[in-house]
Amino acid sequence: MTHIVIIGAGECGARAAFALREKGFDGEVTLIGAELHLPYERPPLSKEGLAEAPKYVASAERYEEARIAVLTGTVVEKIDREDKAVRLADGRSINYDRLLLATGARPRAFPGASENSERIRVLRTHADALAIRPAVAPRRKVAIVGGGFIGLELAATARKLGAEVTLVEGLPRLLTRGVPEEIATVVAERHRDEGVEIICSAKIAALEDDGREARLLFADGGSLSADLVVVGIGAMPNTELAEAAGLAIDNGIAVDETLRTSDPDIYAAGDCCSFPLSHYGGRRVRLEAWRNAQDHGTLVAANLIGGAETASSVPWFWSDQYDMTLQIAGLADGAVVTVRRDMEAGAFILFHLDGEGRLIAASGIGPGNAVARDIRLAEKLIAAGSRPDPHVLASPDTKLKKLLAA
Ligand SMILES: Cc1cc2nc3c(=O)[nH]c(=O)nc-3n(C[C@H](O)[C@H](O)[C@H](O)COP(=O)(O)OP(=O)(O)OC[C@H]3O[C@@H](n4cnc5c(N)ncnc54)[C@H](O)[C@@H]3O)c2cc1C
Repeated sequence: MTHIVIIGAGECGARAAFALREKGFDGEVTLIGAELHLPYERPPLSKEGLAEAPKYVASAERYEEARIAVLTGTVVEKIDREDKAVRLADGRSINYDRLLLATGARPRAFPGASENSERIRVLRTHADALAIRPAVAPRRKVAIVGGGFIGLELAATARKLGAEVTLVEGLPRLLTRGVPEEIATVVAERHRDEGVEIICSAKIAALEDDGREARLLFADGGSLSADLVVVGIGAMPNTELAEAAGLAIDNGIAVDETLRTSDPDIYAAGDCCSFPLSHYGGRRVRLEAWRNAQDHGTLVAANLIGGAETASSVPWFWSDQYDMTLQIAGLADGAVVTVRRDMEAGAFILFHLDGEGRLIAASGIGPGNAVARDIRLAEKLIAAGSRPDPHVLASPDTKLKKLLAA
């Protein structure tokens, strides 16, 4: 095998490219990305003052040293499986022996909202952050549509930067996907304390930009004006290339546990793919999480060069809002027992067990790193298939490390 081509120069694509070298692959590696920048970290975009400069995954010199050819600002338009080539928008073609799709995801658009509005935006890329930044300032009104992680992180950042923030959620509470209500309640209270107006169960009929301001029109006839509306209502996997090439799709590019698509020479990894998760009975999931993108990148590199490693990490996700960090390990849906462990400084962790007493997830929230250590240990307990006594878990006197050793 001489040439591995990676489509998508994000977290996962970059990690995979370096991992190929770390694992001894000596052939050509080409990393192709539509964005103008070298791969950068997305998490700071909604935190850290809307990240004025990209935080690069690696410097240009490191790609050079590793002999990774990075084509930025380059869009792949087609995969030609017969010729084993990718066709670029600029007319060039690049042949591959093995291909990795790390095309990520893009924000779900609000139905009917103009894609070219200056005042109605999304937040996925550095360019998006730059476009949003001027309106996130004292006395400017920012409306955020969607009470998920990105909307909430942006709300916290916007408050820190002095903007007036209203967050509008269609469902009865925030963070409905994967976060227990007890934690969502703490998050909502904190945002309200910081001056964010939160409107839940809102039915938005339309988003408008009249050239001077943006407006949310509610189904009940009311409206809300803002200098900027940011829509954060979820993301869609970038599957078009794979679909057009005839690869199997199932809530993302469908891969097996080795991250191989329905074509044995094409793999997919990171936000763009759905894969079977061994700890959860082989249930097919698609994760939008930074560490998953990294883990997939490392694993898929091994398999692109002939390995047969299987995806078995326990999902892990974090979110920073104000001085709070929320962390989730595992998948909580399907839990029949949830116990709470209270910790110092108002921090707490909820442990979720299934019908057979197996620990399947842990969700925690608290200031700074308050829950980090125990969530890390919980992750190991989940990976080990542990069935701890719920009362023992709930007691703050129990050292999780001891449970793990047992
Ligand atoms: C604002 C924000 C905050 C986040 N915060 C957190 C957090 O706190 N914690 C956490 O766990 N996760 C967080 N995430 C999620 C995390 O950043 C993603 O899971 C991760 O970036 C996924 O990496 P990826 O490489 O799979 O996809 P991406 O990072 O989306 O990269 C895919 C790349 O492929 C390119 N591409 C797609 N199609 C083509 C094509 N045809 N030709 C060329 N290039 C193409 C895209 O332009 C893109 O650059 C956050 C995400 C965002 C947007």
